[in-house]
Amino acid sequence: MARKQFKAESKRLLNLMINSIYTHREIFLRELISNASDAIDKIYYKALADDSITFNKNEYYIRITPDRENRTLTISDTGIGMSKEELDDNLGVIAKSGSLTFKEENELKDGYDIIGQFGVGFYSAFMVSDTVTVISKAYGSDEAYKWHSKGVEGYSIEPWEKETFGTDIILKIKENTDDEEYDQYLEEFRVKSLIKKYSDFVRYPIKMDVTSRRPKEDSENEYEDHVEEQTVNSMVPIWKKNKNELFPEDYENFYTEKRYGFDKPIKHIHISTEGAVSYNAILFIPEKPPYDFYTREYEKGLELYSNGILIMNKCADLLPDFFSFVKGMVDSEDLSLNISRELLQHDRQLKIIAKNIKNRIKTELSNILQEDRERYEEFYESFGRQLKYGIYEGYGTNKDILQDLLLFYSSQEQKMVTLDEYVSRMPEDQKYIYYAAGESVERIEKLPQTEMVADKGYEILYFTDDVDEFAIRMILAYKEKEFKSVSSGDLGIEPAADADDSTDQEQDKELFEYMKNILAGKVKDVRASKRLKHHPVCLANEGELTIEMEKILNAMPSDHKMKADKVLEINSSHEVFKSLQEAFENDKDKLNLYTNLLYNQALLIEGLTIDDPLEFTNDICSIMK
Ligand code: ADP
Repeated sequence: MARKQFKAESKRLLNLMINSIYTHREIFLRELISNASDAIDKIYYKALADDSITFNKNEYYIRITPDRENRTLTISDTGIGMSKEELDDNLGVIAKSGSLTFKEENELKDGYDIIGQFGVGFYSAFMVSDTVTVISKAYGSDEAYKWHSKGVEGYSIEPWEKETFGTDIILKIKENTDDEEYDQYLEEFRVKSLIKKYSDFVRYPIKMDVTSRRPKEDSENEYEDHVEEQTVNSMVPIWKKNKNELFPEDYENFYTEKRYGFDKPIKHIHISTEGAVSYNAILFIPEKPPYDFYTREYEKGLELYSNGILIMNKCADLLPDFFSFVKGMVDSEDLSLNISRELLQHDRQLKIIAKNIKNRIKTELSNILQEDRERYEEFYESFGRQLKYGIYEGYGTNKDILQDLLLFYSSQEQKMVTLDEYVSRMPEDQKYIYYAAGESVERIEKLPQTEMVADKGYEILYFTDDVDEFAIRMILAYKEKEFKSVSSGDLGIEPAADADDSTDQEQDKELFEYMKNILAGKVKDVRASKRLKHHPVCLANEGELTIEMEKILNAMPSDHKMKADKVLEINSSHEVFKSLQEAFENDKDKLNLYTNLLYNQALLIEGLTIDDPLEFTNDICSIMK
């Protein structure tokens, strides 16, 4: 019998489990029952796909046995079991799921975080046990094995005897300490209530021997213990229960039990409808995006049941991409059990359900936005980007459903505002919805291009997400007001009456023409700015592609580089302008130098890179001399 070491990561996590300060040790039971139920599911699915296997409901159950004398708590199941290799692979290393990589990247801090974020399945057993023994016989095999571990030191596997296939997990419960009462996990009543609390709707019976005191036969005042096997869980799925009977905790437990996420959902939606299509659904809006949410690996979808029987784990057709963060399940009697993936897509019933669900989610989100702004902002922080992607990817077809759910940072309010709020307080003379795009609020605040619009007293929306400008392009206009970048050529603002209409316009024209030639290929034009107040220079743009969009597109892997049509705008009331005029008159070399300097400055302000930094620094040095 060889002793084996846990894989490094597992060892660290195990240590955390054993020494956990986590307050909810009791969840270990839920985790183990969940595994047991999954193990039975696996036989059930095998039987679905293979006619030679029959699934006789009565043979499948989970049994919990507390044994006070021996200080053990045993969780047995008649599920698929594990072979020797599986014991080694599955219990020797923590879940092979993506969460492991995530844990590696994010230094393990304290037990709480990890349990809170991922749940830890099997390993949670060590929060309450000194030793853990797993006796298992894999379905279809004649050999059984015993896996045994005292914790971090490692584990051993040896052949063992077991009659039926399935798994027994035997926990040697820790002794009580000053801080923690472990005896409770050996008490029938307590264990029973934990099952009720966390695992009531598990689809298979969870059996337990329950003791009750009864009068002795032939005796009036003598009592004896009577032991009787009971099924502790109701097995009625939560979605078939009456909404009035359910508490928020029930939904939260369901969310965790189902492993929809390890956060606490922001909102649950319970739908029971009868009509054109009858169905029950429980949907959740999570609080935090799963670690892989904004990656290609993330799979959207809802669980799909036909009359209480799970037919698909992630039915993607039930959720539009822009609501891909929603978790939950749908159960309908109107769907056929053998429905195949291809058939599903064309299923009329399914389409109706999907549409209802979409509308319902939208309504619920609007309600949160109206009634609990703070909560909505939390949601938006997590999933706002997905809504914006939705608008962009749908080429605007989804704008009716999504545009009122958007929030952007407002220059005036200094907080997130809706488009409706923006438009409703626009001054009468304001033609456009103005926005400025950039990396961050702090950066945008410093953009010279915002000066004119802000001076006019107009509110500016700050677009700090890559997708913002692209999404807005798809909306085109909100309540008939078009969007306008503060960097765009024509801002649609009348210049103030006192604006100095340069007397030497002709002269300046030549100057600008000359500068344009110096910057040939870099800018489309050089002109006097109408938007600058204090800054000497900025870039504006003409055409569809803005400078911010150019940046974003060029950051993506592609051979084809995009280029926005840039215009160098000079503030003709700035000191610097006089120097330009002078140089134009007297010293063309100097003009050359100044022009390049100004152009490079404008690039830097935009957060663009300058073509030749060395030349730029040399230029600066040469004017300092
Ligand atoms: P997770 O359940 O998240 O995959 P666990 O650490 O809880 O992570 O379990 C690891 C693996 O061990 C499971 O994926 C499953 O393959 C196996 N396993 C755990 N408990 C049982 C059981 N009672 N019966 C069969 N296999 C089990």
